[in-house]
Amino acid sequence: MPETTPEEVLIVGGGVGGLAAALAFGRAGHKVTLLERDPLPATADAEEAFRAERRGAPQVHQTHGFLARIVVLLREHFPDVLEDLRAVGCTTMPARADLGEPRPGDEDLAVLIVRRTTFEWVLRKAVLRQPHVEVRTDVTVAGLTSSLPDWSDVPVVDGVRLADGSELHADIVIAATGRRGDVPGWLSACGVEVPEKVRESGLMYMSRWYHLPSTFDVDELDAKLGGDLGFVKYLGVPGDGGTLSVTLAIRSDDADLRAALGDADRFDQACRALPGPDQFFTHGPLEPIGGVRPMGGLLNRIRTFTDDAGAPTVLGFHAIGDAHTCTNPLYGRGCSLAFLQAVMLAQATAKHPGDAVARAKTYEADNQREVEPWFEVSVQMDKAGADPAGFAGAGGGDGEGAKGMAALFVAAETDPIIGRGIARFFNLLATPADLMADAELLTRMAEVMANPDAYPIPRQEGPSRRELLETLDAVPGAA
Ligand SMILES: Cc1cc2nc3c(=O)[nH]c(=O)nc-3n(C[C@H](O)[C@H](O)[C@H](O)COP(=O)(O)OP(=O)(O)OC[C@H]3O[C@@H](n4cnc5c(N)ncnc54)[C@H](O)[C@@H]3O)c2cc1C
Repeated sequence: MPETTPEEVLIVGGGVGGLAAALAFGRAGHKVTLLERDPLPATADAEEAFRAERRGAPQVHQTHGFLARIVVLLREHFPDVLEDLRAVGCTTMPARADLGEPRPGDEDLAVLIVRRTTFEWVLRKAVLRQPHVEVRTDVTVAGLTSSLPDWSDVPVVDGVRLADGSELHADIVIAATGRRGDVPGWLSACGVEVPEKVRESGLMYMSRWYHLPSTFDVDELDAKLGGDLGFVKYLGVPGDGGTLSVTLAIRSDDADLRAALGDADRFDQACRALPGPDQFFTHGPLEPIGGVRPMGGLLNRIRTFTDDAGAPTVLGFHAIGDAHTCTNPLYGRGCSLAFLQAVMLAQATAKHPGDAVARAKTYEADNQREVEPWFEVSVQMDKAGADPAGFAGAGGGDGEGAKGMAALFVAAETDPIIGRGIARFFNLLATPADLMADAELLTRMAEVMANPDAYPIPRQEGPSRRELLETLDAVPGAA
């Protein structure tokens, strides 16, 4: 990060977004105070970090995939943190097996294999080592302090009010309060309305953790770790420390499946029946780490902090991570986007030292270009279903267009040009606009879409909902 005029920065929330912001602002020379509601006692290692409770961010114990974009962000901005992650056993895995003739940028297509708790633990240790950064845990922020000075048409946030009634003041307040933080309520009390677009995914996660046997070779895994059977979307993700998590995402209103999968034995049986996760269970049962962990309320949501002309509606205040934009966790975008926003905000601050208006305009314009497309894409993917077959079914657009889209996903399996484009897209390395600017890719896509019948959708492997429920009913000894 470039050195800049130091400002006092308060960050509310010590999850991935808040920690990334603390690093980015701390390393740019600002005086940073990070306030986190959870107690977060020091943990000695990744295992202890995994066991620690995290009431403020309970999703840390759900399956997390870390897309190639976060690896690139780490490499470019915090290479030492990437080294730290490797030093505690995190690895990378190619995001796609076959890319044909190598191209510049292919080296970026690697996802990070790490538990979310390990990722956050390593990040927190890097923040704690940072001069000018103070981390205060067990501190709850209750709201903001603001004024309407002569020089501004809109409220200027100048600090936070803590739950004990005391106030802390700063030049910049960053809300990294996650999905459940009440940013609109806080700003409404300052006279600022925050429009939101929300689309519920209608899904809930059922996840379970396991120890993989020491003989298990992750490099020999089939690349297909998950799938989408419509009634269940699922993924098995190895983590650091010889761990595995499997998530089965089902409709929150599917009471039968929810009840069945809540039972640990039946959950394991479902993993064995699903192509992808089944490969982890071929050598026998795995040693579980705890029971099945359900989590609901998974949504897509974007908040707006500018008016129609792009002028900021509030100054001195910025939201990052889920407090700004949430995307359906199924696509694994949240941590990468939170990280990206932390970096973008620090860069906007460096570009416009002491200029709250220019900083806010730049940051929100960057969000519109770099983050908002992923909100829209997540909503569209939710409508279509994550599987190619979904594009040919309801909600995938008009008949021919949907058929063409489905053909693209099928072609991507064997065509390195389309496969690379789609892998870059799924890993947040190329926005839809970037893909549309790639002439070679467009030509190849047009060829496929003109002849979709040459790319029939393969028959879905895996049980129907009814078959799965019947299999689970037959599990002996299940409660
Ligand atoms: C089930 C599930 C699975 C997911 N899977 C993935 C995945 O595979 N890959 C991926 O990249 N992303 C995934 N995500 C999304 C990812 O977890 C979030 O996008 C990411 O945590 C956002 O980081 P954040 O810093 O904005 O919020 P969080 O990490 O949620 O952190 C918010 C922090 O703010 C603190 N806080 C809140 N209010 C206050 C307050 N008033 N005062 C003080 N502190 C406060 C909380 O205690 C918490 O520590 C998943 C999310 C869910 C729900």
